[in-house]
Parts: sequence; C-alpha cells; structure tokens
Amino acid sequence: MKKIPLHIQIVLGLILGLVYGVLSIMFGWSADFAVDWIKPIGIIFINALKMIAVPLVLASLIVGVANLGDISKLSRIGGKTIGIYLCTTLIATVIGLIIVNIIQPGKILPSETRDELLELYKADAGSREGSAAALRDQSPLQPLVDIVPENFFLAATDNAAMLQVVFFALIVGIALLRIPREKGETVIRFFDGMNDVIIKIVEFIMLIAPYGVFALMAALIVELAGDNPERAWELLTALGAYSGTVLLGLAAMIFIVYPSIFKLFTKVKYKNFFKGIRPAQLLAFSTSSSSATLPVTMRQLENELNVSEEVSSFVLPLGATINMDGTSLYQSVAAVFIAQALGLGLSIGDQAMIVMTATLASIGSAGVPGAGLVMLIIVLESIGVPSAGIALIIAPDRILDMVRTVVNVTGDATVAMVVASTEGENPHRPAHLDEDTSVLAGKEA
Ligand code: ASP
Repeated sequence: MKKIPLHIQIVLGLILGLVYGVLSIMFGWSADFAVDWIKPIGIIFINALKMIAVPLVLASLIVGVANLGDISKLSRIGGKTIGIYLCTTLIATVIGLIIVNIIQPGKILPSETRDELLELYKADAGSREGSAAALRDQSPLQPLVDIVPENFFLAATDNAAMLQVVFFALIVGIALLRIPREKGETVIRFFDGMNDVIIKIVEFIMLIAPYGVFALMAALIVELAGDNPERAWELLTALGAYSGTVLLGLAAMIFIVYPSIFKLFTKVKYKNFFKGIRPAQLLAFSTSSSSATLPVTMRQLENELNVSEEVSSFVLPLGATINMDGTSLYQSVAAVFIAQALGLGLSIGDQAMIVMTATLASIGSAGVPGAGLVMLIIVLESIGVPSAGIALIIAPDRILDMVRTVVNVTGDATVAMVVASTEGENPHRPAHLDEDTSVLAGKEA
C-alpha cells in the first residue's frame, strides 16, 4: 500500500488537533485531560528535536568547514549570508511599516476594548517588561560578547546559546583546515559519522511528528480558550484588524518577496522549493520555534533541495538565531499599532527608528515561542511608547507567533538557497521526489 506522504500526515495531525481542541471546548471536555495526557506528547516531540539541535550543528558545521578546502570561501559565504540576512530583515520591517500605516488598525480599536485589554493583560505585560529590562541594561557590545562561550560544554547544554556552538564549530573547522590533513582526518571522519547518525535520528523523530503536532495543536486550542472561551474569542476578533495586518505582511514575504529573490538569484522554481521545505514550515507552525525546527530545515534542504552540507550547516543555524524576517515585520506592525491605539503620533524619525530597532530586536530574539514579544518592548521604548502597551496585543500573539515562525524558517531556507546558488551549486528538487514526496515512504518503500 502506498504510504501517506509525510507532509500530509503532519497536516492531518494539525487538523485533527484543531478539531479535537474545538470539540473539547464545545462539549466542555476536561481541559486537564488535554494538558495532562495530550500535551506531554507534543513536549516530547519538541524536546526530541531540541535534543539533536546542538550535536547536529556541531557535527555538520565542523565537517562542512573542514571540507571547504580554504578559509577564503568561508569568509565569502559568511559575508554573503550576513549581508543577505540583514537585507531581507530590513525589507520585512519596511513592508510591515508600510502596511500598518496604510491600514491603521490601531485607529479602529474601540477605546473600551483598549482599556479592557490593558487591564486584563497588565500582569502579563509586566512580567515581560522585567525580561526586557535585563536586556536593556546590557552594553551595546553584549551581543558580540555572547558569541564567545567561556566554556564550550556549558554552551552545548543550552539551546539558546546556539551562536556559541556555531562559533566553536567554526573555529574547530578552521583549525582542522590548518593542521596536516592526516592528523585532522580522524576528527573529520568522526564528526562525519556522527552527522549521519544524527540525520538518522531526525528521521526517527519525524516518525512521531504527526502525533506531536496533533498534541501541540489540541493543547494550544484548549489553553487559549481558557476558562471563558467566548470572551477569548471576542478579544481575538476585536484585534482582527491588527492580526489581519500582521498576516497580510507575512503573506507578502512568502508570496512576493521570497519568490522575487528566487527569481533574481536562483534557477530554482519557488514552487519546488516550497514542496521541499513543507515539513519544516509545518513544524515551524506547530512548534512556534525556529530552533526546534532547525534539524528538519537542514534535512529538507540537504535531502530534498540538494543544498550542500557546507552551506546548509552554516547558513541555517545562523539564520535560526539571527534571521527573523517574520518577527521583525510583526514588531514593526505591533509597535505602530500600539502607538495608534494609545493615540500617540509617530514622526518619520520614529518610524525610521522602528526600522532600525525592529531589525536589531529581531536579530536578538531567540528562536523560541514568544521571544519576539519580549523584544518588542525594546522597540516600543526606543520610540517613547509605554511598554505596558504590549498588553494590547498579547491575546492573539500565540497564533501570530506560529505564522511568523513559518516566515522566519522560510526566510532562512531562502537565503541558504541563494547562497548555494551563488556559490556555483545546483540546488534543485530531484524529480524522483515528486513521484513519491514522502521521505518516510521513500525510505521504507
Ligand atoms: N517564535 C519565533 C521563532 O522561533 C520568534 C518570535 O517571533 O517570537 O522564530
């Protein structure tokens, strides 16, 4: 019997999870059941993905760099990657600003709803202000300091320190290029084998992806609805114009900006690229975490889009930590929305400030759920808008986070395709995959 393709299995998991969540609210099924018995499956799935992120980045980057042959190629790829990342993030921020200034969703928010939201999410907003305060007090050079780990093993135990792992792997790879080949050979072969082992583990984890996604979606709906589902729904719809603006901007990235970049810099059809990264996008949507999705993004690009390990192992981990187009777009829309709702005018200078701070804040946001919301506080403060204003947008944030994470991951993958293409590689989707798009089916057939 023909096996159902992986991405369809994941979509089914997603839809069934949504259906379960909605039914459980409609029929008043126990929320505790979903939280105690269903959610843990989702957590196990996310943890398994996170479990392999550090070893995967370490092994594949060391092997990737050591196989580059020379350091000049590495610095060229590095410069290109960071340059393109910055450009796409700036484009996203500007698109967000244009759309929010045209639609002006903050001006149509009824003042009673505004006051109610401010009151309702006061405590929640306060706790996030605390996290942002710690960041604000840092030296401007702190992000650079944070790249160099004081202890590699400590860095390797913290998924949030992925940049430190990337740094260490780069240094090891470069050093391997500089010592006699016969000495480095054993080390390279070890990490090469390790890399294959981890890729195999990603395949094992993907076997439970549909169940993990089901559990995450079911628990999310039940938790979002809380004790008063009708009120939660009312608040969500009151913020419909704001959410619509963010979603419109995110759609512009996926359907206009990235396809244009593909046309300009690669020979790959965007449609084929989309097919190749579908599973990563679906996971980004259901986990809201670019970091947790990273192993799958890497696998999809290498296995289904023919991107070399050298490029994917450098560009993607870096992207999962610093390139967040969806987040920067969302931050610019949210900052202007909050200012509009609070009746505060923004000058052209303020808007330029948003472009700068949203770009930096998105770079500083970790690839985990809700990170963009905390960093938004820094954007608000830079333009003199009270940070308590984030209370206005907390209600739909979890849902918007899912979509912006899809954009973040798609943006990283787009840049990896561009870098691969401009490095003389031939990224493409092998024809045989379209006969049977499932990696699982392919492996098991
Ligand atoms: N959840 C996002 C990510 O992991 C970050 C954010 O915008 O909150 O890519």
